[in-house]
Amino acid sequence: MTEPSDFIRDMIGADAAAGLHGGRVCTRFPPEPNGYLHIGHAKSIHLNFGIAKQFGGVCHLRMDDTNPTTEDPEYVAAIQRDVRWLGFEWGQNMFYASDYYERLYELAEGLIQKGRAYVCDLTEADMGEYRGKVGEPGKESPYRNRSVQENLDRFRRMRKGEFKEGSCTLRAKIDMASPNMKMRDPPLYRIKHAHHYRTGDAWCIYPLYDYAHCLSDSFEKITHSLCTMEFESARELYDWVVAATEVPHVPRQTEFARLNLSYTVMSKRRLLELVEKKLVRGWDDPRMPTIAGLRRRGVTREAIAEFCSRIGVAKNLSIVDMALLEHVIREDLNQRSPRVMAVLKPIEVLIENYPEGEVEQLDAPYWPHDVPKEGSRKVPFSRTIYVDRDDFLENPPKDFHRLSPGKRVRLRHAYVVTCKEVIKDANGDLARLVCTYDPATRGGSAPAGEKVAGTIQWVSAAHALDAEVRIYDRLCRVESPGDGGRDFLEDLNPDSLSVVQAKVEPSLSSAAEGQHYQFERVGFFFVDPDTRPGAPVFNRTVALKDGWAKLVGKSEPVKAEAKPREAKAAAPKGDAKELTPAAKALAEQHALSADEARVISSEPALAALFEGALAAGSAAKPIASLLANDVVRELRARRLEKAPFDGAALGELPPLVASGTLSTKLAKEVLAEMFVRGARPAEIVKEKGLSQVSDAGAVEAAVAQVLADNPDTVARYKAGNANVVGALVGMVIKSLQGRANPKVVNEILKKQLG
Ligand code: ATP
Ligand code: MG
Repeated sequence: MTEPSDFIRDMIGADAAAGLHGGRVCTRFPPEPNGYLHIGHAKSIHLNFGIAKQFGGVCHLRMDDTNPTTEDPEYVAAIQRDVRWLGFEWGQNMFYASDYYERLYELAEGLIQKGRAYVCDLTEADMGEYRGKVGEPGKESPYRNRSVQENLDRFRRMRKGEFKEGSCTLRAKIDMASPNMKMRDPPLYRIKHAHHYRTGDAWCIYPLYDYAHCLSDSFEKITHSLCTMEFESARELYDWVVAATEVPHVPRQTEFARLNLSYTVMSKRRLLELVEKKLVRGWDDPRMPTIAGLRRRGVTREAIAEFCSRIGVAKNLSIVDMALLEHVIREDLNQRSPRVMAVLKPIEVLIENYPEGEVEQLDAPYWPHDVPKEGSRKVPFSRTIYVDRDDFLENPPKDFHRLSPGKRVRLRHAYVVTCKEVIKDANGDLARLVCTYDPATRGGSAPAGEKVAGTIQWVSAAHALDAEVRIYDRLCRVESPGDGGRDFLEDLNPDSLSVVQAKVEPSLSSAAEGQHYQFERVGFFFVDPDTRPGAPVFNRTVALKDGWAKLVGKSEPVKAEAKPREAKAAAPKGDAKELTPAAKALAEQHALSADEARVISSEPALAALFEGALAAGSAAKPIASLLANDVVRELRARRLEKAPFDGAALGELPPLVASGTLSTKLAKEVLAEMFVRGARPAEIVKEKGLSQVSDAGAVEAAVAQVLADNPDTVARYKAGNANVVGALVGMVIKSLQGRANPKVVNEILKKQLG
């Protein structure tokens, strides 16, 4: 297998090669033990442990346990179990942030002594008020200039428990006018009179994430601290804390996009709500996207690893389609699941010409031809069998190749049968079928000259085993649960679990926990731990139908690309028919597309930006397009409820594109920067020197150079091949580091080509 490659691995490879930290690589996976791990965490685990392995380094497992009210040893145990199950080992390197409380406290006193932290008595609400707004400086706390002595005294009394919760905090003294809101004197410690699962009642002040995390990284000599995008704006503070405390080891933070999956929820808060409200059976309910849930459902660690490698690691938002995960699971299970027969909705079939009392043991291979494995079992055949109710239709359409009156169908591994009679009960419902069998077709071969199109599964009634089969469907019925401020519970799929009493072939009496099967024509199933001797319980891991393969138009496995990339973000879907009245009004009033109107009206933050931009004089169309595509994506990626800028600032962006100052690609960079710093577009363009080269002189020189360097291409143009213009434009833009306005380039190019 080739090593995965992505921007983080490239960076770490370069650092190691350059001898940074003596070439040592040390990462960490830092969960907070306030819930079970989910598939999103698996992405982070594979990244952190995978990198350590790839570069001969180590990966620490660290409980990021600085919040006494939500943490629990049960979660620590579950996290360890899940990381191990995924196939990773931390060895000696198990750490707890709570073990660092004393060191963290001493460093905080050190900050006070250096005049870089102070005890502030503002209430939380006032602190928010003083922090100010994006683009406007905040106000300094009246407690900001307390003396070192007073601060030390108060901080010590905070520790002793002399103050009420919420009455004061320790804050870093940084800059209330910083464009980065995170740098406006952020709190470092807060009071919590709560029992901690490891430190008990030893502490009543607890460090905040932004203070504890970077220092924990430093104490453990982590070289590369990898976290998700929502910490991007916290990086400046991370570096500040490390520098101000003067700890000897300086780790570096790098962010990547968190994994979002459609049709499920991933935040631990929401998962906890499902567990607490008993909407699922527990953290390991097979409908949950938790590692424990996936494991119980029958998903293997290999499938999870493959999934993580296919989605890759990048910075842009990724909402990965659940169908991709299901596709990968199917591919994995196809190779490891023996084929057996089970009838989920049994209906009795009497084979009237089969001798009464006779039982044949038919040979049935476990594996299809395309799986290079061998082995078989015997399945008993007798006069009364069960087939699936759905495999019979009294008045079938033309292409129905299963059972119907007078039609012939093959019973898998057995005989071709003909349906002779349909027997109904007193209500007129189907009671049973009567068939005849053709003894010459033993093993399922059709008589010479005859084609039998359909094959169905069956079990012998007298020999069948009763089994409980749990059929799982997606947890949520919409792609993006809780979108637009709705309670996500409203989006739960009421049919996510259905339990059926099935009839399965007798060989399954030996089915033991941990085994995978394919029930032919139905799906992949996994033996649940609720299984008791003689009473098996199966979970459907995944149905056979593959929506993803259809989506990408291939029945072949989708091969990972050389560079794993983030799966495409889901575009808003649907048409005008399902618009809410508000969305409809918006669409009509501003001539927006249905998608734009839907997205904007469903998200209060977007609607506010839209109004703000219009009020500041922007044209509706370009703003709507920005909001419905780019802004919404950034918000989700950063898990923000609202953007750190207003509509007027956003409104400055489209004119910069229209005037040719920015390409659409550069506009996206500017927008991303606006999210990080809240600055206005013009400022960012100026500071970063992003504006396109529209100055004709510079473009002319670049065009001349490209033409001179590519005489063959020019010759092809002269010979009448106009298609090469696009390639030449591309070369010119590239030579200008992407900063050229394509329209200008095109014009000048045509002129020079003559
Ligand atoms: P949640 O939002 O589910 O509660 P969290 O970020 O609070 O998640 P932590 O226990 O703090 O959960 O996460 C541990 C590590 O896993 C962090 O480094 C975090 O960035 C990473 N992580 C969490 N969720 C995802 C995800 N969906 N995709 C990738 N990495 C994730
Ligand atoms: Mg977290």
